[in-house]
Amino acid sequence: MPFPRHPHPDTLKSLADAAPIPFWLDDIRRPQPTSALTRIISTDLVVIGAGFTGLWTALLAKEADSSREVTLLEAGETAIGASGRNGGFVAASLTHGFENGREHWPGELTLLTEMGQANLEAIDATVKRLGIECDFLRSGELLVATEPYQVDELCHLPEKAAPFGEKLVWLDRYQTRSMVDSPLYLGGLYNQKGVAMVNPAQLAWGLRRECLNLGIRLYERTPVLHLDEEARDILVHTPYGCVQAKKVAIATNAYPPLLKYLSRFIVPVYDYVLVSEPLSTDQRASIGWQGRQGVSDTNNLFHYYRMTEDGRILWGGYDAVYYRNNGFGIHFEVNSEVFGRLAEHFFLNFPQLEGLRFTHAWGGAIDTCSRFTPFWGTAKDERIAYVLGFTGLGVGSSRFGALVMLDLLDGKSTDRTNLGMVRNKPTPFPREPFRSAVINLTRQSLEQADRNQGRRNLWLKLLEDFGLGFDS
Ligand SMILES: Cc1cc2nc3c(=O)[nH]c(=O)nc-3n(C[C@H](O)[C@H](O)[C@H](O)COP(=O)(O)OP(=O)(O)OC[C@H]3O[C@@H](n4cnc5c(N)ncnc54)[C@H](O)[C@@H]3O)c2cc1C
Repeated sequence: MPFPRHPHPDTLKSLADAAPIPFWLDDIRRPQPTSALTRIISTDLVVIGAGFTGLWTALLAKEADSSREVTLLEAGETAIGASGRNGGFVAASLTHGFENGREHWPGELTLLTEMGQANLEAIDATVKRLGIECDFLRSGELLVATEPYQVDELCHLPEKAAPFGEKLVWLDRYQTRSMVDSPLYLGGLYNQKGVAMVNPAQLAWGLRRECLNLGIRLYERTPVLHLDEEARDILVHTPYGCVQAKKVAIATNAYPPLLKYLSRFIVPVYDYVLVSEPLSTDQRASIGWQGRQGVSDTNNLFHYYRMTEDGRILWGGYDAVYYRNNGFGIHFEVNSEVFGRLAEHFFLNFPQLEGLRFTHAWGGAIDTCSRFTPFWGTAKDERIAYVLGFTGLGVGSSRFGALVMLDLLDGKSTDRTNLGMVRNKPTPFPREPFRSAVINLTRQSLEQADRNQGRRNLWLKLLEDFGLGFDS
């Protein structure tokens, strides 16, 4: 049964008290932002953006060479972007899932899987080493089938993916529902090793604390306005100051790019999330879900959901909204139509929870690119590097993205920089007005396929032939 587009009026009551702020940031442990930069300083490396990518870049650079002066500039405060407003699924996959990896880089997928798993283990080890209390849980992810054709596709995946190093287990309807109970489930693919759950804001704030401990200079409330060159330095201009930097790492994700040409490769796509009140013991028992696995369904427009430490359900996804002309800003972070739809889908998935209320509802921008994975590049004689394009799966891969960016800035040739995935860029999106038209046609076609037993229309087949798509 496909998910409906319009909510029942009764469903909307569940949203009446929802605060329009990310649940993760609504936390008394949220650190007070530092002061803005108000002078001219010099540094070896300036990192722009204090989300996961920027925090990992700063931290790994300093850990590798403690004599390197590292400065981190953040327009707002740490984790105010996607890093503080995501689902908290930490995936090993660097390729936005197995199928996407096999489509684009079949020859290096085994290596990419290995590197992705090592990256996840390294995040786990860092959390433990630094004592970051971020509810990091190796509970895995359950990918559920809600339509018979999805069962046919998913049940063969463990066999197909095993030669590439993936360890997936197919669960029938009974086994799936004994893990998490929804009447919609027909089966599920369990990835226990390759996905962890985290409180993302706590992870980011923990990394921030370590950056400060190591002597990295952090200036929040400091938007970078533009970059210039002066002799051997890059000048990083901010409203009340300037950094003279030998090297610059750009980690600004879906925000309007400082290197303007990058907006050819990414589009900001808004993804929306609800968080419920904590479930009572009876409510929790009615849906099972004691293991706190992350769950996603297998539709093109998919939902992802997980249980928080204090027993709430985070429920997000489905609509991935592109606003014309790369629309970006806080006014897009609330969309009551989408929230209503998400709530309706929630109660279809878990009818046992009728009457549950949502306490938080928010949105955030995803840096979607046409191949759904990060891409890298350099400018100004390799003195500037960037990574972006994570397309909704950057909580884990941002650390790998940071390592590659540092390799590039250091001029190193490594197993990472030699990857085809690193050397090549995604196909650019067309300019407006074609950009909106193409994205909207693709979204509508994906929705139609979900209503039509997964059958893809000519447009989707054509995109597929060129290895292109639209996802979140
Ligand atoms: C709703 C939602 C759900 C998601 N769920 C998941 C998930 O479950 N799992 C997963 O893997 N991924 C998920 N993602 C994606 C994931 O959150 C991102 O890929 C990841 O956080 C990217 O981190 P980042 O540091 O690159 O970007 P961000 O966290 O967006 O950080 C960029 C930072 O740069 C700063 N900045 C921008 N421009 C400037 C400037 N000019 N000067 C100074 N600072 C600047 C911003 O203020 C911001 O803090 C989700 C994203 C969203 C929005």
